[in-house]
Amino acid sequence: MDPRTRWLSWIELDRDALAHNLDTFRGLLPSTTRLLQVVKANAYGHGLPEVVRAAAPRVDAFGVHTLDEAGAVRAAGWTGMLLLMGPFPRQALATIADLDLEVTIFESTALAELETLGQARGKVISCHLKVETGTHRQGADREDIPGLLDFFAHARGVRLAGLSTHYANIEDTTDHSFALGQLERFRAIAELVAARGLGPLTRHTACTAAALTLPESLFDLLRLGIGAYGLWPSRETLASTRARSTLELMPVLSWKTRVTQLKWVESGEYVGYGLTHRCGHHTRLGVLPIGYSDGYDRGLSAVAHVLVRGRRAPVIGRVCMNVTLIDLTDVVDAAIEDEVILIGRVLEEAIGADRLAAWAQTIPYEIVARLTSSLPRILVDRNGSPSVGA
Ligand SMILES: *Cc1c(COP(=O)(O)O)cnc(C)c1O
Repeated sequence: MDPRTRWLSWIELDRDALAHNLDTFRGLLPSTTRLLQVVKANAYGHGLPEVVRAAAPRVDAFGVHTLDEAGAVRAAGWTGMLLLMGPFPRQALATIADLDLEVTIFESTALAELETLGQARGKVISCHLKVETGTHRQGADREDIPGLLDFFAHARGVRLAGLSTHYANIEDTTDHSFALGQLERFRAIAELVAARGLGPLTRHTACTAAALTLPESLFDLLRLGIGAYGLWPSRETLASTRARSTLELMPVLSWKTRVTQLKWVESGEYVGYGLTHRCGHHTRLGVLPIGYSDGYDRGLSAVAHVLVRGRRAPVIGRVCMNVTLIDLTDVVDAAIEDEVILIGRVLEEAIGADRLAAWAQTIPYEIVARLTSSLPRILVDRNGSPSVGA
């Protein structure tokens, strides 16, 4: 029996699409550049264990934001390079050695504690120094770098394994001048490090948009996030990339639910909280068992549509915590427990995360990252059949 019959809402992950996207990005990389897939935020809402298991044969490393996520990647069976990109609580420092993580360093106090840990464990902990080049988020300031390099030069429990930075303005624009300035500052720092004789260094700066639009940003490692999931970072990235290639990404994720109630509502009656929708016609109302607590943004109220039997049905009234209402008047044959596509495609119709993002006035990253982890995830092949070995 297909496990999907047990659920009223679930996420399907297309294993073939994931493979296609990873192979596509691999094809953009020089042979010496490694591919790290970013699986922070529950693998961009897709489901961390499922994604790690499906992607493992095609990537060289995974990247996470938190120690908990790192533990989940190890629990999924990954024994290769695992980079902690975010900060960590000092009380949990030992976990870094336990899980054999490479860590991102932004400042000096964490480094001193890691040195102590490495020595105590008889290990050398690989550190990636993240440097400030203009984003002013995480990153060591230029004036702190010589001191940090001195520390590495004399350390025994840590070593400088990598040098990284992150772009401030690469997704939201087709003008890459700011990114090029950051790249230039990064190069200068990389030269400084090389001149100190530290290394060999894994230099990395590129996220999805940089990989697509700025090949000189690739260096030794790509930190691939959203593109692996088959989503474009933005329209601007799509526009900048289209200019020079016909690269296709395939969305990995579909989100589905079922019609749980059907009823007729008289013209002139109201639907939902706040009386925001008044029926202008005798309305066939469908009730869906998902809402904003599942990640269906409240901003989708009255603007989104869903797909039922291959046809569009508008979301009417307000999206509630666990319930969403749709107008099925034009889908006359709709029945209880019909499958409803919230994100995904059927026949010629598609609703992408980018579409939901436009409706909810946000970015595709937020639409997928906020899909609740309590929805079941199922790996499928291109035809939608449960994937063998899933
Ligand atoms: C999230 C993240 C990435 C991946 O970005 P995408 O735009 O999703 O490819 C890369 N590097 C860092 C430091 C990140 O935090």
